[in-house]
Amino acid sequence: MRTITLINGDGIGPEISKSVVEIIAASGLEINWDLQTAGADVADKEGTPLPERVLESVKRNKIALKAPVTTPIGKGFRSVNVQLRKSLDLYANLRPCKNLPNVKTRFDNVDIVVVRENTEDLYAGIERQIDEDSAESIKIITRNASERICRFAFDYAVKNGRKEVCCVTKANIMKLSDGLFLDTYRNVANDYPQIKQREILVDNLCMQLVQNPTQFDVLVLPNLYGDIVSDLCAGLIGGLGVAQGANIGKEYAVFEPVHGSAPDIKGQNKANPTALLLSAIEMLRYIDEKGYAQKIENALFKTLTDGIFTADLGGSASTTEFTKAVIERL
Ligand code: ATP
Repeated sequence: MRTITLINGDGIGPEISKSVVEIIAASGLEINWDLQTAGADVADKEGTPLPERVLESVKRNKIALKAPVTTPIGKGFRSVNVQLRKSLDLYANLRPCKNLPNVKTRFDNVDIVVVRENTEDLYAGIERQIDEDSAESIKIITRNASERICRFAFDYAVKNGRKEVCCVTKANIMKLSDGLFLDTYRNVANDYPQIKQREILVDNLCMQLVQNPTQFDVLVLPNLYGDIVSDLCAGLIGGLGVAQGANIGKEYAVFEPVHGSAPDIKGQNKANPTALLLSAIEMLRYIDEKGYAQKIENALFKTLTDGIFTADLGGSASTTEFTKAVIERL
């Protein structure tokens, strides 16, 4: 039996984790969950929101399913999410954004995969105050990091039967940094003649995404553009309750929803478990449990097709009712 780390998070994390664990168990797939608590409550008890035992567990098991974890504010803790990405070198942020059946959105047939570089760019955190009235942030782009993210995007495209990988930059203005990213993309693309190449400037991409998103397939972007564009794409498919994600490195992978811990609805049995469930389905595909992934996805899609929704999608089902409905359709 496969052992997978489960970080059940805080806020709505424990509720949606319970839902997903129950659905996977009901599908017939046996997983030994290595439960690891993290976040605000843990910080009070263990002095840090991300104890070493959590990292050790992911290193041991290689794969984790993670519910949202809040970093306590104002106590000097580094972001749990950033720390996890850094410590495990999870260099690729993967966000598949696909329309779900019966979930009302502006466009049908959106099926975009956003591949965001996770380790450098303006998010490297190199900033300084020059004087009281000026500050600077440094944008770091390296060939190594650009190459591994572009290769990741093309490999993903090949493995998942996608047709095109589009490189998103602002290389006309940032000729050196974004220029390096684009140049690296072109070199990597040459190794994948079966995948179509496309280049687009990030401002044009944003306009195209809100006017005609179905033209895009896989997007590969440096960190900052990737952060913004992936939220735009989440909006295209129905928002936070359904937006899945993953952070993947050479050795480890952590699958997690895009949304935060939603403290406003904590403990009210209202949260939508779909985003975490979709992240788990992608995780099952990643570990080659494709049959179970498909079975669970079918049951989820049937639940939505039957008009069973949680409150965030305009329905009246509670988290537990929604979970039960998915299980009944397995
Ligand atoms: P963070 O800073 O941790 O990202 P946040 O408050 O900025 O937190 P979220 O926690 O993602 O962002 O929540 C934003 C809003 O979306 C909340 O008001 C919450 O009610 C709603 N929301 C987020 N996730 C879900 C979900 N799974 N089901 C229902 N509503 C959700």
